Amino acid sequence: MPNPYAWLEQSLETIHRADWYRSVKTIQSSPGATVILDGQNVINFASNDYLGLAGDKRLIEAATRAIREFGTGSTGSRLLSGHRELHGELEQAIASLKQTEDAVIFSSGYLANLGAITALVGKRDLILSDQYNHSSLKNGAILSGATIIEYPHNDTETVSRELQQIRNNYRRCLILTDAVFSMDGDLCPLPALLSIGEEFSCMVLVDEAHSTAVLGEGGTGCVEHFGCTGKQLIQMGTLSKALGSLGGYVAGTQALIDFLRNRAPSWIYTTALPPGDTAAALAAIEIVQQEPQRRNQLWENVAYLKQLVQQELPNLKLLPSESPIICFQLANAGEAVQVGKQLISGGIFAPAIRPPTVPTSRIRISLMATHQKVHIEKLVKVLVDIL
Ligand SMILES: *Cc1c(COP(=O)(O)O)cnc(C)c1O
Repeated sequence: MPNPYAWLEQSLETIHRADWYRSVKTIQSSPGATVILDGQNVINFASNDYLGLAGDKRLIEAATRAIREFGTGSTGSRLLSGHRELHGELEQAIASLKQTEDAVIFSSGYLANLGAITALVGKRDLILSDQYNHSSLKNGAILSGATIIEYPHNDTETVSRELQQIRNNYRRCLILTDAVFSMDGDLCPLPALLSIGEEFSCMVLVDEAHSTAVLGEGGTGCVEHFGCTGKQLIQMGTLSKALGSLGGYVAGTQALIDFLRNRAPSWIYTTALPPGDTAAALAAIEIVQQEPQRRNQLWENVAYLKQLVQQELPNLKLLPSESPIICFQLANAGEAVQVGKQLISGGIFAPAIRPPTVPTSRIRISLMATHQKVHIEKLVKVLVDIL
């Protein structure tokens, strides 16, 4: 009989041959604009810690205090023995930031999407999902059992046309979109999607993973950025990026959140967020509200990088971006890996992103509020040398 596990090695070989093989790199310092990566000091353009809060003393202090008082684990699911006062406080803080009636926190953003989508739609329902959506939206859609239509990236005409033709064949309908597309850096057409939602009676879920604390005057995200605060929709996001902790959330009406607490399997059947992470996220939200200068600095850094690239690398084609995520495309996966390696040799950590994560290979640069001008200048200088 053939070895039933032999295919694993063959598959790995195929992955290697396509230059798709991935492995971890080790960061040996605290998070920040510069880090020690596999023993080398590099400027960090690979982090989701947009406001530089993951290493902030106040978050560390809040997490440490919570761990001393309440322990390292929450010991159970929220509905059994896992619920603490801190969880309620964090949910209230998120709802108040988002100006929604309520919010619920999950143990990760990925679990928030799986839980929300599977609770909201099922076999008799329809999902329309942007082709560039995050893996957690795509897998949530599959897990829900609903009929899924993937529409071309940001193509609201297709969404309208499909709904016109088939909306009546389904009970509920849910439109899924990233707010900031995580591997491209552009924004979803939220106002158009919301009006399509109204026209065809569809719920809209927007994934604010990369826009929470980054977009909008008050840092509440893409909904605020587009002037849609107060409209009825489903806003999810993560505590793990600009908020410097771990966890996910869904914010919306009281009815939505109550329903999720009763029906979202990835909330009901998993252990509650630990006290330390909960307290850190709570401290982060306070900082986001009280220190808009962090967000302003982040956007100044974005403008500075774009300006320098235009000056020094006029032929470098950046992908359209309205966020701190800035990408440029390369011919193939091999070239992207090569440029990624050269960047590291030059002291710059900006990863190559390849298929199957994205259709075309690229270098992805993410900016932080804590980057200094010299960091951005060094990045552009190294890019000039390589390209
Ligand atoms: C990172 C990310 C998630 C998952 O969030 P985690 O808290 O890391 O699990 C979901 N959606 C998008 C668009 C993301 O970029």
